[in-house]
Amino acid sequence: VPELPEVEFARSCLSRWLGGRTLRRVDADRTRVIRGASQQTLAALARHRVTRVERRGKWLLWHLAPDLGLLAHLGMTGKFELARRGAPPVRWSRVRFERPDGAVVHYRDPRQFGHIRVAPLSVLLDSEPLKSLGPDAKDHLPNAQALGARMSKSRRQVKEVLMDQTVLAGLGNIQATEILFLARVHPARRAASLTQVEIGRIRAAIAKSLARTLAMNSGDKITYVEESKRVENPFLVYGKAKSPCPRCHTPLRKMTIGGRTSAFCPKCQPRVGGARPNRRVSTKSSKSIAR
Ligand SMILES: [Zn+2]
Repeated sequence: VPELPEVEFARSCLSRWLGGRTLRRVDADRTRVIRGASQQTLAALARHRVTRVERRGKWLLWHLAPDLGLLAHLGMTGKFELARRGAPPVRWSRVRFERPDGAVVHYRDPRQFGHIRVAPLSVLLDSEPLKSLGPDAKDHLPNAQALGARMSKSRRQVKEVLMDQTVLAGLGNIQATEILFLARVHPARRAASLTQVEIGRIRAAIAKSLARTLAMNSGDKITYVEESKRVENPFLVYGKAKSPCPRCHTPLRKMTIGGRTSAFCPKCQPRVGGARPNRRVSTKSSKSIAR
């Protein structure tokens, strides 16, 4: 599922493919992807010039001249792909943006959880979802103190808070899982119970995990980890429950938080410091309490 690094990859591709170019033709299927627009509003993008493509969290914002914006979210399986003139049809193509040279940028999305919306740029910037987005986790990562202030407002578990786009924009299940492993923080910890030292570790882990994932993707094509059994899972712990921890070799465990599966190492990410004391544990050995 695309998160900040995958959307950043899409942004850099789109800038390269469409930046500064005028769209010759745009056509969209009847698809729920364009529920925020219509086939007609998309077709009317023809003769508009793409001046810039930016990313805000997991959203892509195309600036079009004169005065239009296109807001896109990749959902679970969405991606943009470039097909040169005369290339074979693209499977699951939902919207097509044709360049003056005949090349076509396809928005393809097998499961159609993506979103495309068209409106004046000022309207998009001043309405949801962009209006309520928190600072971007890559471009505007707050310092540890400010991050702590944002996160400690919540009584929720730290994993959920990291995925809350109004707290910090761009992180999803994969990145939050990786970040908490790198920071050695148990995913079920209450965000409000984190110490400033732990917040500092989380902040460093955000930068590290995003940089690591960004470095995995280059060129013009991307494959999401869930997409193909042939693609090896490149993450440290995401999707690797029962495998040995890459740090201490303890078998990784999984638990569900906010409806999403989280893998973690029970030894590197102990549930201490702020976790509610579990009375039943007191009958067991002192060693298990320390865990
Ligand atoms: Zn471990």
